[in-house]
Amino acid sequence: MTADISTALGDDGILVATMDSAGRPMNILNEAMAAPLAEIVGRLETDPAIKGLILTSAKKDFLAGADVDRLWAISSTQEAFDESMQLKAFIRRLELCGKPVVAAIHGMCLGGGLEIAMGCHWRIVVDDGKARLGLPEVKLGLLPGGGGTVRMPRLVGMQQALQWMAEGTEVRAAEALASGLVNQLVASKDEALQQARAWCLANSKPKQPWDAPKFRYPGGDSRTPAAAQLFSVAPSMASAKSYGNYPAVTHIMSSVFEGGVVGFDAALVIESRYFAACAISPESRNLIGTLWYQLAAIKKGQSRPAGFAAAKVAKLGVLGAGMMGAGIAYAAAKAGIEVVLLDSTQEAAERGLAYSQSLLDKAVKKGRSTPEARQALLARIMPTTDYALLAGCELVIEAVFEDRAVKAEVTQKAEDVIGADAVLASNTSTLPISGLARASARPAHFIGLHFFSPVDKMPLVEIIVGAQTSDETLARGVDFVQQIGKTPIVVNDSRGFYTSRVFATYVMEGLAMLKEGVHPRSIEQAGLQAGMPMPPLALQDEVSLSLALHVADQTRKDLIEEGRTYTAHPGESVLRQMCALGRIGKKAGQGFYDYGEDGKSLWAGLAEHYPLAARQPGQPELIDRLMFVQANEAARCLEEGVLRSVADANIGSIFGWGFAPFQGGALQFINALGLPRFVERSEQLAAAYGDRFKPAQLLRLNAEQGASFSD
Ligand code: NAD
Repeated sequence: MTADISTALGDDGILVATMDSAGRPMNILNEAMAAPLAEIVGRLETDPAIKGLILTSAKKDFLAGADVDRLWAISSTQEAFDESMQLKAFIRRLELCGKPVVAAIHGMCLGGGLEIAMGCHWRIVVDDGKARLGLPEVKLGLLPGGGGTVRMPRLVGMQQALQWMAEGTEVRAAEALASGLVNQLVASKDEALQQARAWCLANSKPKQPWDAPKFRYPGGDSRTPAAAQLFSVAPSMASAKSYGNYPAVTHIMSSVFEGGVVGFDAALVIESRYFAACAISPESRNLIGTLWYQLAAIKKGQSRPAGFAAAKVAKLGVLGAGMMGAGIAYAAAKAGIEVVLLDSTQEAAERGLAYSQSLLDKAVKKGRSTPEARQALLARIMPTTDYALLAGCELVIEAVFEDRAVKAEVTQKAEDVIGADAVLASNTSTLPISGLARASARPAHFIGLHFFSPVDKMPLVEIIVGAQTSDETLARGVDFVQQIGKTPIVVNDSRGFYTSRVFATYVMEGLAMLKEGVHPRSIEQAGLQAGMPMPPLALQDEVSLSLALHVADQTRKDLIEEGRTYTAHPGESVLRQMCALGRIGKKAGQGFYDYGEDGKSLWAGLAEHYPLAARQPGQPELIDRLMFVQANEAARCLEEGVLRSVADANIGSIFGWGFAPFQGGALQFINALGLPRFVERSEQLAAAYGDRFKPAQLLRLNAEQGASFSD
């Protein structure tokens, strides 16, 4: 027996197999786990002294899923098919061994973990608030290939299973019990083992429901009228959300449907065929490469300068209790940090605290928090106007108005109070950090921490390194961002930093199209078809046209002052014209859209101001424009040294502004296409629409040398 599973045979003949992946914080389903599991199944089948099996875990979770390294190494559909068939073969043997097998589950039981558990005859879950069961494979562009699409619908019904698998939902204990996914809840791990043993002793010859001759799916199988109804709408509902960009979703539906018209074992084979199609799909390669490997590298601190002890913030100052300051205060207090929330009036500071109250009230109502936890969190936030209370803060983040003079004033007032080695951070979205640092008496301790709105939901913080920011300050910035559970990317100081700069190219391209006479509906549809979370014109309304115009005007002024040339984007005149008409965006109730009580609709007046061109381009052309313009700008950021790593570029684009995740991020978009093809298409777009599409020099060079963008 390897170290990954230990077994203990009781006097009653019940074998307890305890999973404990060596050298890892969580159990994962790899060779070191699968081989001893298969060996245990062999013993169960042949050793008459063994009367039953309990599968449990020595870690805080049951089993977190399959070994992604192994999936990543798969290079052909045949290999993927064989791998999947091999895994499910031993699960099938487990459930057909003729002796009782119980899964005693605590913590996370995901992916391959749940697939094994569903192959057990009885599932007991420790209901301590930590249990999460689910098949999240879809998030990596995969489908559950260990029998998940076959067993789950047979346990909980097709509709529920489809919904959970298509969204990768993690189900809590009570819901798992109510749905039929598990059989029993208990209060502790000890009780789970006791109950599992009792169940084994009381059920010496168990059978899975689907192996009984009269088995019926809950809610009916694929041949029932209910299924006909479900499968006539489910695909269109899914593609209305995914625009066909996530083939795993379609494959999951196909596997469930087809698996519901054949016998159990044939269904397992069908599933493996679909698994194989997913495993080598470009979408899953992009998702795994970025959201698994590059994200892990970032979390391990690849952008954090080495050589500085890990720092923790115990007391944080937040200057400005507006939308951002209030959100930052909440995120920090949630992570257990004491927060001094300062504004120019006590009333404004209290409003900032009230923001946390409203978030917590909702959480308590939904059962995601308790009144005690709510109280404890609120007690950590101190609303005030008194700078003296900032004494002892290791970090102060300013989130006052976007105005250099106001920022300078609060920086100096805070620095008069805080310790000499405390860090001062700005949450500015547009003002260069090196410039703001001029107001600081110790610019080496000054840094940008750019949060995204709403702070409680958005996972990213863009850390901006000013000209004088020290490595130690950067390391402390990275540590703080991770302390509050967010993902940091690190960029060098520059106009718009990375995220705002590239995000703007997407929105402005939509405006340029409008000016050319492209139908606004085609523009919006192209954004969604490309996989962006919001279409460009609606997004511009959200961020406000007047703000975008203000930034453009400021940029022009600054560049001219610096003696550099300013070339106006073709979309800029659209901003100007719309603002002159008072259509400044959603806040004003009117922008590219009209906003009413029953939702929004494109403004009819657009047709008058932007008459349709006689020749309308096809959707692929529009989609290319929206995506190439972003990817090229991201490449420019790398070339100019604004970006420091490919991982930061990709993760920043997906987490920051929702760059189509299935593409794997703004630079992976180029990689996946191949640099020579990207350069060639960019040249075509540049000839047709302007220099903004001219491929970055770095891309040309790398294309010539056959290099790609990987960290
Ligand atoms: P906001 O207007 O909602 O809040 C600003 C707060 O600062 C107000 O409560 C105001 O009373 C307070 N304030 C102003 N002057 C002050 C002073 N002298 N002393 C103390 N408090 C003062 O603005 P916001 O949207 O929270 O933005 C704050 C900062 O965050 C800006 O720099 C903005 O560019 C940046 N930012 C905003 C977003 C966003 O989506 N809104 C995103 C990222 C960054």
